[in-house]
Formats: sequence, C-alpha cells, structure tokens
Amino acid sequence: MARPRNYNPLVYVVNQWNLSRARNKGEKQFKSYLRNCGSNYIKRLEVRQCILDKYHHQCAECKATQNLQVDHIISVYQGWKQGLDIEVINTLENLQILCRSCNAGKLP
Ligand SMILES: [Zn+2]
Repeated sequence: MARPRNYNPLVYVVNQWNLSRARNKGEKQFKSYLRNCGSNYIKRLEVRQCILDKYHHQCAECKATQNLQVDHIISVYQGWKQGLDIEVINTLENLQILCRSCNAGKLP
C-alpha cells in the first residue's frame, strides 16, 4: 500500500470513508471495525517498540518480562462510547504493556 511521504507510524490516521461506511453497517460491524483499528495500530513494530521501551520491557501491573502484550488503557470501544476520536484512542499515551495473564484478567 502506498504511504504518504510524511507517514508517521506512531500517529494513527483514520480513513474517514471506511469509518462512515462501518458506522452505516450497524453496531456489531462497527465494533469489529473499531477493534481492527486498535489492533492495526498496536501491531505496528514502531508502536510496539516505543511502548516496550517506555515500560522498560515490563508488565505495568506485575513487572513480568515474559509474554508481554501491548494493551489499550481505555479500550477502543469504551473510548468511542466516551466520545473519544479513534485517533485519540490510538495514541502512545493510551497504551501500556501488560503480560498475558494480567491482560487476560483485565475487565473488558
Ligand atoms: Zn503482569
């Protein structure tokens, strides 16, 4: 896919056309669209590396150093329900590092 020359992987930019199309498809489709936006963002290597460095490669809860995952502090769907834009939800400030078991124990 072609990227603009000033593409910054740490900044999430919403495709407005996809967004309005997803909104018109109903709640269930829209939720999965939001989930995809969130996971596309945290799957970026640059994002992952940045957050791992910020958290010193440790789980934010228990300081484990194995099975680390990038997690949205405010989940994408909760953020959306609170009126946040997708760009705001998908920022480094809203991400943290959790190990697999702390992430699994987190309330949705
Ligand atoms: Zn943990």
